Amino acid sequence: MQDSVCDSLWRASAPAGPQLTQLEGEIEVQVAIVGGGFTGLSAALHLAQLGVSVALIEAQEVGFGGSGRNVGLVNAGVWMEPDQLDKTLGLEAGRTLYNTLAGAPELVFSLINKYHIQCETTRHGTLHAGVGKAGLTQLQRRCEQMRTRGAPVELLDTAEAQVRIGSTKFIGALFDPRAGTIQPLAYARGLAFAALKEGALLFDQSPLNSVRPSTEGWIVTTPKGQIRAEKVVLATNAYSEHGVKEQARKFVPIFYSQLASKPLSEAQLAKVLPNAEGVWDTCTVMSSFRLDQRGRLVFGGMGGEGKALSNWASQRVAELFPFLSQVEWEYAWSGKIAYSEDHLPHCQQLQHGLFSVAGYSGRGIGPGTMMGKELAEWFSGQRDSLSVPMTRLRNVPLRELKRLFYEVGAQTYHLGQKTHAID
Ligand SMILES: Cc1cc2nc3c(=O)[nH]c(=O)nc-3n(C[C@H](O)[C@H](O)[C@H](O)COP(=O)(O)OP(=O)(O)OC[C@H]3O[C@@H](n4cnc5c(N)ncnc54)[C@H](O)[C@@H]3O)c2cc1C
Repeated sequence: MQDSVCDSLWRASAPAGPQLTQLEGEIEVQVAIVGGGFTGLSAALHLAQLGVSVALIEAQEVGFGGSGRNVGLVNAGVWMEPDQLDKTLGLEAGRTLYNTLAGAPELVFSLINKYHIQCETTRHGTLHAGVGKAGLTQLQRRCEQMRTRGAPVELLDTAEAQVRIGSTKFIGALFDPRAGTIQPLAYARGLAFAALKEGALLFDQSPLNSVRPSTEGWIVTTPKGQIRAEKVVLATNAYSEHGVKEQARKFVPIFYSQLASKPLSEAQLAKVLPNAEGVWDTCTVMSSFRLDQRGRLVFGGMGGEGKALSNWASQRVAELFPFLSQVEWEYAWSGKIAYSEDHLPHCQQLQHGLFSVAGYSGRGIGPGTMMGKELAEWFSGQRDSLSVPMTRLRNVPLRELKRLFYEVGAQTYHLGQKTHAID
């Protein structure tokens, strides 16, 4: 299975991150964070802002995991439909999580503004594009549930959706003006600069090898150093490796791959997403597309990178946008999504003072940034709990079989998919 970043558009186009060093020797802080993605970086930034001493260690480099590989859709809420969220968590917890994550895009965009993060920000909303009658029914249901909860979403009819997307293959779209798109690796690197500015200590190339209790809290050990901390947060999500490998067993890893074209011509850009919204569709094996700052089409689908996916992407783009039929791909990369069993993020208190927040199930830009902030507020006594459920997750039974099920399903779908007509 490929999990490559070497041909990632985001790596090729992101401004350089801060020059960090490996952790060497022993340091003592109030909170140690493991993992330099949105969750860990936001936690470090907000803890430092609140005057809590904090050190973050990253096994590779900032944004190495899902945070540097994703589509860059900054959406509100979670994947799950709002009514289903209430059923799964109970009314009070469901509404708390919904309301918190409704504000997640605002948090992301306000951090970008505050710290002048250069990450190709466009806040023109996102479009959840309906495929077929079943897709439209799903969007109608979502729209109603979201509007009941005060979300300013709008269900676009077929004609409007087709003009906004530039394709005749969609039957409608749910527009969310709170959302937008970013260059995700640039955002992660920008958060790292912001955390350093606020006084957090960040180290890269410093994998946690072990974490063990001590009389005052915890001792985190890396190949060349040690951190003594009262609390430790594991923010390693789908990329949990080295001393936190066990955490990965609580989620099913699902691959999602993307391709980026050469910059489109001005005439093409006048037709494809003329307002530059980000899009994902209602198909069970979902795909997504958006533009980057240079007018490249970034197209993604579930499944690992490879010939089947790139053939399918070329064919699908030709179907959606016949005037782009000869699209040339310049970049291809993939990433791992941590799917929790209920498709919701969770905070686990593994032992007293040792926490893990993970399981965003493919929507982690807003939620990861928000959970980092909430952790900081919780640890510094400004709030009593987090908005995500506190759960002791079990290892997913038959995890490898479930991963294969999704992967084979996605590949089979890509091999066999035919044009979707508007029916
Ligand atoms: C292809 C793809 C597309 C996606 N698209 C979107 C999208 O459009 N919108 C959206 O909201 N979400 C999207 N997501 C989900 C989102 O990217 C993730 O939920 C989010 O990045 C998770 O952030 P994180 O900080 O929790 O974890 P990560 O960003 O995965 O960070 C974990 C870090 O921990 C480090 N690490 C692991 N083990 C150790 C160790 N032992 N010691 C030290 N460090 C360690 C890893 O190297 C890694 O950098 C997508 C995900 C993928 C993979």
